[in-house]
Amino acid sequence: MTQTEYKIYIDNMIRRVEKARLRVSGHHIVKIVAVSKYSSTDEIETLYNIGQRAFGENKVQDLKAKSTELEELPLEWHFIGNLQKNKINNLIDLSPTLFQGLDSIELAKELNKKLEAKNATIDCLLQINSAKEESKHGVMPEIALERYQEIQEKYPNIHLKGVMSIGAHTEDKELIKKSFQTTHEIFEQLPDAKICSMGMSSDFELAIECGSNMVRLGSIMFNKLPLLPFS
Ligand SMILES: *Cc1c(COP(=O)(O)O)cnc(C)c1O
Repeated sequence: MTQTEYKIYIDNMIRRVEKARLRVSGHHIVKIVAVSKYSSTDEIETLYNIGQRAFGENKVQDLKAKSTELEELPLEWHFIGNLQKNKINNLIDLSPTLFQGLDSIELAKELNKKLEAKNATIDCLLQINSAKEESKHGVMPEIALERYQEIQEKYPNIHLKGVMSIGAHTEDKELIKKSFQTTHEIFEQLPDAKICSMGMSSDFELAIECGSNMVRLGSIMFNKLPLLPFS
C-alpha cells in the first residue's frame, strides 16, 4: 500500500468511527488510540504523518524503546497491558499519558507506594473483566464501583479517569454487546469518570454504540488484518 492509499484507508477508518459515534449523538466524541504493539517505529511514524497522535503499547520495555526512539515527535503514549510489579518503576519513569490496565487493589497499593516515593502521579483506568473470563485481567463488575472508590480514597497518587474493558471473546455479538453494556453501566455510575475505553479492531463500532469514548485499535489501524481493502 502506498502512503496515499494508506491515508485513504485511514480516512475510511475514521469515517467508520464517525458513523458509529453519530449513531449515539453528535456530542459523543470518541478518541482513537492506535495500538502499535505489533508495529515498528517506522510504521508509527507513517501513521503520525497522516495525523495520528495517541499510541498504545502493552509491554513496558516496548513502550520504553519506541517512545524513546520517537521522543522528538509530539506523541501521547498509553500503556494498555498488564503491569507486573517489578515493572512499576519503569512505567512511572516513562510517565505515560494513561495507564489503562489498573486491575487490582494490590497493584494500586504497590503503584501508589512507588509513585509516592517518586513524588509522582499517574492517570489510570480501572480495568473491568466484564465478561468474567478466566483468561482476562480486571476486577469483577459486581465490585468495580466499590474498588474504584476505594482506590480514589486510599491511593491519592493514582488519578482514576474511568474504566477499560476488553469485549467478550466470542463470535456471539449479543454477548460482546452485553459485556460492553456492563462496563458502560459502571462508567455511568461514576460521577467524575471521563473515559470509557472499550473496542478493538473487531468490535469497535459495537463498543461505540454501547457508549465507549475511547477505542484501542491495533491491527486495523496498521493494516495488519488479513482481509482488508488494498491488501
Ligand atoms: C492488542 C490490544 C488491542 C488492539 O487489538 P487489535 O485487535 O489489534 O485492535 C487493544 N487493547 C488491548 C488491551 C490490547 O492488548
